[in-house]
Parts: sequence; structure tokens; C-alpha cells
Amino acid sequence: MTHQIIISGAGIAGLTAALALHAHGFDRIVILERAHDIQPLGSGINLLPHAVRELDALDILDDLIPLCIQTKELFYMNHRGDRIWHEVRGTDAGYRWPQLSIHRGWLQNQLYQKVVSLLGANAVRTGMEVVNVQSSGRRAIAICKKRSTGETVNFEGDLVIGADGIRSSVRRVIVPAEGPPPCNGMVIFRGATWGSSFLTGRSMIIAGDGVRKIVLYPMAHRTDSDQVLLNWAAAVPENPGAGYSHGDWNIPVAPSKFAPEFEGWNLAGVQPSVLMQNSPDTFVYPMVDREPLKSWSKNGNIVLIGDAAHAMYPVGSNGATQSIIDASAIAYYLGRYPRLIDALSAYEADRQVKMTKLQLANRQQGPEVVINIANERAPNGFDDPENVFKPGELQEISDRYTKTSSMEFSKVNEPSPYMCMVM
Ligand SMILES: Cc1cc2nc3c(=O)[nH]c(=O)nc-3n(C[C@H](O)[C@H](O)[C@H](O)COP(=O)(O)OP(=O)(O)OC[C@H]3O[C@@H](n4cnc5c(N)ncnc54)[C@H](O)[C@@H]3O)c2cc1C
Repeated sequence: MTHQIIISGAGIAGLTAALALHAHGFDRIVILERAHDIQPLGSGINLLPHAVRELDALDILDDLIPLCIQTKELFYMNHRGDRIWHEVRGTDAGYRWPQLSIHRGWLQNQLYQKVVSLLGANAVRTGMEVVNVQSSGRRAIAICKKRSTGETVNFEGDLVIGADGIRSSVRRVIVPAEGPPPCNGMVIFRGATWGSSFLTGRSMIIAGDGVRKIVLYPMAHRTDSDQVLLNWAAAVPENPGAGYSHGDWNIPVAPSKFAPEFEGWNLAGVQPSVLMQNSPDTFVYPMVDREPLKSWSKNGNIVLIGDAAHAMYPVGSNGATQSIIDASAIAYYLGRYPRLIDALSAYEADRQVKMTKLQLANRQQGPEVVINIANERAPNGFDDPENVFKPGELQEISDRYTKTSSMEFSKVNEPSPYMCMVM
């Protein structure tokens, strides 16, 4: 293949795109990453079976399995631990591929190692911040600031893929006047700590009281004991005047600032406030997303994937999941259509409407809306959700989101639509 491809951002989308492009025969790929080196940053993320299918097709799943937990079930609860709804997940539910709970930084590192092994260490240029992209004729130029020296360095290619996250510089070239990502008034505190497992040891809990919410799951096993690495993320209304930077994933904050809000909560024997106090590193992230765009490309040689294209609220495990699927999709269409313009059009036609629906569904809290409904109807708790919800109501909410996130068994249990031509 002849296209020379520049990717801005060595996060989950950018690294997966490099692997998928390589699988489709592209080898002239450079990834530009702002960070000085690839460090295991972040906390837990969940990958749904249709993203895991893509990782399997890229031959990286076996490397990830020892690092993660294969999620078995998901409970929605109120803050007292009363059970609203239960879903079996991943292979236990009948999918051909598992749902993975994994540390974001460990996933990123595995993707990075694989990229280096296939494309060489020089394929990933760290400390290179893309500040602009110019499109001249059939070429696109990523203009970078080398962070160690401040000098400007240009990388020229046939295509620039913007995989540079929610504060993407490449997106700014497509939507110059957009400004910072909007916040819905909530902030998410997050962290992880080693501790005892709960329920099946592969269970996920999403619980709330109508104002605050917490997501809790194990994301790794210890090999020398039965402890698990417990990931938690807690959403609370933002304190007016707190002034946290929007879209920055690395703002440290002391647990004393938020753990007391969860005092007294008990979720299947887990006390979130204790977990929070025990977590060595805790961070805050304002709940931001991006407005859906009508187009993710410009001039036939600049295109967006992942959060740069469609950052959404972290609801329903779709952030990293959909970024991985985008990466597979763009590589597939670039391999299929000789003309870039045709490839980008096919990619957008496939992905853009689906992602807009998800972004909007997540603004309405996706399937997690059951927590708010339970709180409105039974603020003091309940013994049986059947006394709170109409027959079939919970199933209907769950089915609707399954469809919006393209998780129907009939679709997911087929081989990857993006890899089948090359495998
Ligand atoms: C440090 C960090 C920690 C995170 N922690 C969590 C978490 O705990 N839980 C969670 O749900 N999600 C987290 N996320 C977000 C999550 O990874 C994404 O929502 C999802 O995986 C989509 O991935 P992405 O590749 O599109 O974006 P990201 O994972 O955000 O990756 C974008 C990459 O582009 C790089 N970049 C940004 N701007 C430029 C630029 N101008 N030039 C070159 N490179 C650039 C970034 O350094 C990053 O490596 C985190 C993201 C980051 C960057």
C-alpha cells in the first residue's frame, strides 16, 4: 500500500489504528504523541465484546487476558445496595468474545509494545505535540512542537488521522471555533486499590442515589494472593468555583475532598468511602463530552477517530470500546478504497450516525437512568424492584441501549466486519 499515514496521538485509538493499518498492508505509518513517554496512566476501562473481537483479530487478545478481569455480570443498585437490575455480560451472556475490565495504562502499553514490534520503535515519536495540520493539494502536514526543545517539526503524509483525544488539535482544524469541551455540572473522582473481591470476583456494580453515582469493578488479579485491583469512579455535582480544567485526565485530588459524600454506602459488602481513602492515587475529571459533528474529515486527507471524533460521557463502557472499533473501521476502508476521499466517506457513513446516537444516549445517562428512576419512585429503598418498575420496563431500557451501542448478539457473534478480508 502506498499511503503515508500520520496519526496524532498514541492513545487507545491511535495505537489500535496503527495495528489495524498494518494488518491491512500499510507500513508507512508514524504516530506522534505529545507525552514524553508512554506511561501507564489512567484507571480502569471496560471493553465490550465487539471491541474485544477487533483486538482478537489484531492478535493481541492473548496478551491482554492475563492483565485483566473478564467481566461476568453487572448490577445496578441504589446507594443502600438494593438491587435494581442484573445483567450477565461477555462470554457468560453468550457472546463469542469476553467483556474486559482492564487498566487503561496497561492496555495502552500492550498496544504500544505490539506497534513497536511490528512497525519499529521509530514509528512512535513521543514528546511531539501536534499543534496544527495543513492540507496542501493531496498532502497533509502535521505541524508539531518538539516538547524537549520547543522547535517546530513538520511531518508530511497523504493522510493525518486525529486520534488525539477529547482536546484534539486535529479536531480544531475541522471545527476551529469549538472551544473547550462542555461539562454537565458533574465531576468524576477515580482511583484504584488492591483489596478483597466481592460477589463473583468478576462483578461490576453501578450504584447511585439520584445525585451521586459510583461505578465499581475489579480489573486485575494478584498472582501471589486472592486480592484484586478494585477500580472505582464516583460522580458528584461539581463544587461551584472548583475550576477543574476540562478534558485533563491527570488532576490529582485528595480523597478527603469527596470520600465523606459516600459515607454509609454499602454495595454488596463494599464501602466505597473506605476504598477511596485506601487508594494511593486519586484524580478528578469533570464530566465532559463533545458536540456531535456532521463530518469528521476535511479535504480528503484529515480525519478523526476515537474521542477526537465523538468524546462521550463515560456511560455504558463505550469510550474505549468505540475508539477501538473506529480504528479498525478506518483501516478497513483505507485498505478497501484506493482513493482517500472514498475511504473517508465510507468510514464516516459507517460510524458517524451510530456515534451521534450514542453520544446523545449517554447525555440521557444511557442504561444508568434506572438508578434515577428507582430513586425517584423509592427514595427510601425497596425489597423488590418489581414493586418499583412496571413489568418489562427495565428490560426495555437495557435492550434499547444494547441496540444503540450495536451490541446485539447477532451482530457481535460474527467475525469482525473490518478484518475478515485480511485474516
Ligand atoms: C492520560 C489519560 C488517562 C485516562 N484515564 C481514563 C480513565 O481512567 N478512565 C476512562 O474511562 N478513560 C480514561 N481516559 C480516556 C480514555 O482513554 C478514552 O476515552 C478512550 O480510550 C478513547 O481513546 P482515544 O485514544 O480516542 O483518546 P485518549 O485515550 O485520550 O488518547 C489520546 C492520546 O493523544 C495524545 N495527544 C493529545 N493531544 C495531542 C497532540 N496535540 N499531539 C499529539 N498527541 C496528543 C494523548 O497524550 C493521548 O495519548 C484517559 C485518557 C488519557 C489521555
